[in-house]
Amino acid sequence: MKLGSHVSVSGKGLLSAVKESIKYGSDTFMIYTGAPQNTIRKKIEDMSIEEGLKLMKEHGLSDFVVHAPYIINLASPNDETFKMSIEFLKKEILRTEAMGSNYIVIHPGAHVGSGEEEGLKRISEGLNQVIEKDQKVFITLETMAGKGTELNYCFEHTAYILEQVKYNEKLAVCFDTCHVHDAGYDIINDFDGVMESFDKIIGLERLKVFHINGSLNKRGAKKDRHANLGATEENSKGKDYIGVDAIKYIVHHEVAKGKPCILETPWLDKKTNLYKEEIALLRGV
Ligand code: FE
Ligand code: FE
Ligand code: ZN
Repeated sequence: MKLGSHVSVSGKGLLSAVKESIKYGSDTFMIYTGAPQNTIRKKIEDMSIEEGLKLMKEHGLSDFVVHAPYIINLASPNDETFKMSIEFLKKEILRTEAMGSNYIVIHPGAHVGSGEEEGLKRISEGLNQVIEKDQKVFITLETMAGKGTELNYCFEHTAYILEQVKYNEKLAVCFDTCHVHDAGYDIINDFDGVMESFDKIIGLERLKVFHINGSLNKRGAKKDRHANLGATEENSKGKDYIGVDAIKYIVHHEVAKGKPCILETPWLDKKTNLYKEEIALLRGV
């Protein structure tokens, strides 16, 4: 198993992220290269990359993941947003590569009214402009909950994008448990069935990263609100409708073997998260 959480690069960049991950008992982790809501980024020289990579090695951490900011929307019908998304994603790929990560996770996009087909076409067109033939980094498309006009809430959307993108060998998938549950797939009672259909429609070889979250809503709610693993009304901000058993089954499953499984569970307050406890819980400690 390769477990970790979202961690921060504020302070000393990658070095801070690794130090935080060690505190949680992680094997891996995920970072944003800066604030997820904007495009302001520190210079790559100021990210303490060498020190971070060295500390990772010493503590046996590997395969960390970068998450692109939310403002990237390749499905946008607005030309300016579309162009900005392409340009910024290109830069993020260079940063990801410079930091020594192989995976940049993106939310494929929201069509904001132009319609699903138009949105999916735009995403594919955008990716075709972004991907360089010899790039090392996998653009990892996240499975989404289907909130608002968000696309990629079903495996068919991913399959469509894969088909439309020329160098699609640079594309992978990030499976977010909260999102897939909210999108309507039954990962609680039939994770094997869900994987079977993933394999049929997308191909299991594309599955490279997992986001491990509970959900505050029932299956199919399309809300995208993450819950702490196994949370109840009493010990957290709300009940987790997925439950610890289902999540444990997933992270211990053959399909997750050796792949980064990243917690994005809520913080209880500004200073308190449960990553350490949740990682221990998943390991079965
Ligand atoms: Fe995400
Ligand atoms: Fe996620
Ligand atoms: Zn989410």
